[in-house]
Amino acid sequence: MSKQRVEELTRLLHQYNKEYYVYDNPSVSDREYDRLLQELMEIEQQHPELKTKTSPTVRIGGAVLEGFEKVLHANPMLSLGNAFNEGDLREFDARIRKVTPNINYVCELKIDGLAVTLHYDNGQFVRGATRGDGTTGEDISENLKTIHTIPLDIPYFHPLEVRGEAYMSKETLEKLNKQRLKNGEELFANPRNAAAGSLRQLDSKVASKRELSMFCYAVPSAKELGCQTHADSLEKIKEFGFNVNPNYEICDSIDQVLVYIEKWSTQRFDLPYEIDGIVIKVNQLEDQEKLGATVKSPRWAIAYKFPAEEVETVLKDIIFTVGRTGMVTPNAVLEPVRVAGTRVSRATLHNEDYVKERDIRVNDRVVIRKAGEIIPEVVKSLVEVRQGNEVPFEMIHQCPRCGSELVREVGEADYYCLNIDCPARIVESLCHFVSRNAMNIDGLGIKVVQQLFDHQLIENVADIYKLDKNQLLPLERMGEKKVTNLLTAIEKSKQNSLERLLFGLGIRHVGSKTAKLLATYFESMDNLMQATLEDFKEISEIGDVISTSIIHYFTDESNKMLIDELKQLGLNMSYTGTKISLSMQDNAFYGKSVVLTGTLTTLSRKEASSKLENLGARISSSVSAKTDFLVAGEKSGSKLKKALELGIRVIDEETMLKMIEE
Ligand code: NAD
Repeated sequence: MSKQRVEELTRLLHQYNKEYYVYDNPSVSDREYDRLLQELMEIEQQHPELKTKTSPTVRIGGAVLEGFEKVLHANPMLSLGNAFNEGDLREFDARIRKVTPNINYVCELKIDGLAVTLHYDNGQFVRGATRGDGTTGEDISENLKTIHTIPLDIPYFHPLEVRGEAYMSKETLEKLNKQRLKNGEELFANPRNAAAGSLRQLDSKVASKRELSMFCYAVPSAKELGCQTHADSLEKIKEFGFNVNPNYEICDSIDQVLVYIEKWSTQRFDLPYEIDGIVIKVNQLEDQEKLGATVKSPRWAIAYKFPAEEVETVLKDIIFTVGRTGMVTPNAVLEPVRVAGTRVSRATLHNEDYVKERDIRVNDRVVIRKAGEIIPEVVKSLVEVRQGNEVPFEMIHQCPRCGSELVREVGEADYYCLNIDCPARIVESLCHFVSRNAMNIDGLGIKVVQQLFDHQLIENVADIYKLDKNQLLPLERMGEKKVTNLLTAIEKSKQNSLERLLFGLGIRHVGSKTAKLLATYFESMDNLMQATLEDFKEISEIGDVISTSIIHYFTDESNKMLIDELKQLGLNMSYTGTKISLSMQDNAFYGKSVVLTGTLTTLSRKEASSKLENLGARISSSVSAKTDFLVAGEKSGSKLKKALELGIRVIDEETMLKMIEE
């Protein structure tokens, strides 16, 4: 029995780790994850023979995403042990005092963001990386440079590593999620995933718009700075210009630690950023060394986790919504209640399995929680206060809008309405088509789309381009000015570059990023429509699932007719961004990985990078075996040395310019 449970827990935790760390998109709450991990730890304690070397209890969950240079951490970036109550903290204190009796603690806020390490040399920022799996992280230097609270120059000229948490404020996350909701994009479940999702963008322009910030809280070589304690090191880096959270406190005893926790359990709601707990660290650096670390976490620190904010209310009804893809989601209609500052009257119930596993019923008193500052979810029912009038959940089997039979594929949790003429699907598809990342048509929000659909003025996306003044003016809430603005916005959208149209069509697995990739590579709709599986294999980021889905879409006669119609209506079908022409493909830099280092004389590094990028080069910030060219300016240091060691072609600025000309 235990063995079976260990296997099941291991499988689930590995899956949740992947969703959380690699895709920044968790499917269960942190509480649920922590509960399962705790259960696995307890079984392993009782049955040590069942513990494997790769158990989620000993491994740090992260991994490195493709597309980033890998960075090996000289000092591993560890996780932290967890405490959920006073008992856990007293046990921690007893363990510490057995080895190092005369210590005190530093208590810090546990910022809900992403752990990041920053490297400096010669007083300058040289590189920054994520924690990854603890040993190897991702080089996200370009994205980190966009964070204003990270100093690029410091008054310390020896090599220095500083670690901390990159985070997104509550206000920014709420704004971002609202925007994503409007665009029909998936919401970030929490500030950590939002920060991680923003920093792990290959395009640093995206990160720069996300208004991230950073608090620094660790210096691995603090002793070399002459520090005796952790608190000294925080003060030291503050002097260097790093942003240190001002709310840390030194506590002499575990009782004082508990007072600190109590205080921040309530004051945390007034902070402009999210914290998910308190980190307690032994202050004396020498004692930290004495205590050491396990493979997963240091023995001299622990994270106390706050319980998530949850409130109770009554579930009055369960309704079903149909999305663009036909996915049918059960939603709870609630007795309105305030959670984390806003009034909530709807909450997601995710899918049939979620509701059935928790036996959530209409008329139940339920606990709800806000995920990601915006979408609330039902956590559980309070079975003990049932009155007898509760109605058990039944999944529907017909689409609530069109009545077609719903289908649940083997291995999937969701039901789908497969009728492409389903009115709910059509309205959602139209909303997606006009949304910001797609055709970006101002004035066509959900209400107007629904109104036009109800008046049978638009039934597919091509109809949007056939609308005229005479049809619109008689409608309710449609004045002369509004109609003119709307028609102008529609007309303007015809000029959009190909990627917007591709994303707007809603081809399965083609998100905005994939659409951009396809548009830059194929340059025109015609080229893309004729592409074969072999052609797609040329693009490393496009796997079989995406290519099959695209081919499938374009072999459907009705889709071909739609594209034809859009063409006739005057929509642009080509990529109009920076072109990589065939002649550019002959350039030596096309498709190559290039690193720039040292000071260039005629161009700034930014200018040089953009010239190279326009020729199809990928600019990277660190040298690895995958680098094709190192462009070395004056005072090139460690990168030049490494490139020479690896036998990478090194060129100077003059040669680079000549090669660009060629
Ligand atoms: P952790 O979040 O429990 O603690 C370590 C992290 O705390 C550090 O890496 C750092 O990023 C952060 N931190 C913030 N402020 C700090 C400070 N002042 N000093 C030091 N560190 C500070 O550990 P983890 O390994 O990053 O994540 C594990 C947790 O993530 C789990 O307990 C769970 O809650 C969550 N998780 C959830 C899922 C899911 O599917 N929901 C999956 C995996 C992990």
